Amino acid sequence: MKKKIQTKCVHNGEVKDTQFNGAISPIFMATSYAYLDQDTLRYPRYFNTPNQEVIGKKIASLENAEAGLPFASGMAAISTTLLALLNKGDHIVLQKDIYGGAFHFVEHDLEKYGISYSFTEGNLTSDFKAKIKENTKVIYIETPSNPLLKIVDIQAIADLAKQYNLISIIDNTFASPINQQPINFGIDVVLHSATKYLGGHSDILAGIVVSNKNIIEKIFQTGKNLGGNLSHFISYLLERSIKTLAVRIEKHNANAQEIAEFLEQHTKIKKVYYPGLKSHPNYELAKRQMTGFGGMLSFELIESINPKIFQKKLHLIKPSLSLAGVESTILQPAETSHKLLGAAERKKQGIKDGLLRLSVGIENVTDLIYDLNQALK
Ligand code: PLP
Repeated sequence: MKKKIQTKCVHNGEVKDTQFNGAISPIFMATSYAYLDQDTLRYPRYFNTPNQEVIGKKIASLENAEAGLPFASGMAAISTTLLALLNKGDHIVLQKDIYGGAFHFVEHDLEKYGISYSFTEGNLTSDFKAKIKENTKVIYIETPSNPLLKIVDIQAIADLAKQYNLISIIDNTFASPINQQPINFGIDVVLHSATKYLGGHSDILAGIVVSNKNIIEKIFQTGKNLGGNLSHFISYLLERSIKTLAVRIEKHNANAQEIAEFLEQHTKIKKVYYPGLKSHPNYELAKRQMTGFGGMLSFELIESINPKIFQKKLHLIKPSLSLAGVESTILQPAETSHKLLGAAERKKQGIKDGLLRLSVGIENVTDLIYDLNQALK
């Protein structure tokens, strides 16, 4: 029988403890391995120590990919993947509202390598098509997007990439493989900041790329030169985290849905952005390509409420950077993640000053709603 994703989270990829028959993968700390009469030369920078291999195999299995490579951060995975798949003279089309760090890498670094790029004007498939040129090699999307939870049509982008012979890449961080499996729609490469839901406890910095064996081999060749590999110990912690990924995500999904519905009917909230709400412009599309709507939502306060004061009034929900931990956190994009964009660009992208992004945790949802309600009084 084919294992379901919840079972894969617990078991797939593990290294057997053949010495003591323990129930979990042992941690192998060695950086030096025997080489005589061995099929594989093992070294941490080659992504192939036992605990690193667990992560590659486990996440590849969750995403229905052939193989995966674990990196020391999401940005190490993103930058290495782009540098591996693009050559001098190539061009890449990217969604305009991708994660800020990825945006900055593209703007700041790609031209040094003779690689040109275009960001889309919007998130429709036609916006991506309009930017494709003769030398375009890669198309890059991120859905749901940050912080407005916009939805890009994954199937349509995968089809477009095939039509123009491009490699399609998605940053699947916000959804996690529990809610969205882009390879099933024909996407070639899936990236994650494993610092977020895969790690899930706000204590691990990690990244992952999964794809078919040919593409992973290319990324491996560049990756071993750049050296942004995940350590064995963090690999072990990440394996431990992923064992509970499915149950965590089910709770994140349920809590976020309830909170989104609560906020939507609240008189002090102007607008809620959550793909699980019928009012979301891409609700039907989200339903087609996601099996759960995720733990991230954003909302706009009415003008008379100061976002900073509102955040200070919260007792349980922590005003805090980053996202996707078991604890609920909140931030004001205009003051944090999207500050560097500048007011004009934020306005263009629809990111208002009163917008707050809530990373809904796995606490009791009644407690979370109580906290929001009392801070809105
Ligand atoms: N992708 C998304 C969607 C993110 O939110 C982040 C980090 O916030 C990254 C990539 C980068 O990951 P890391 O911070 O692990 O390098």
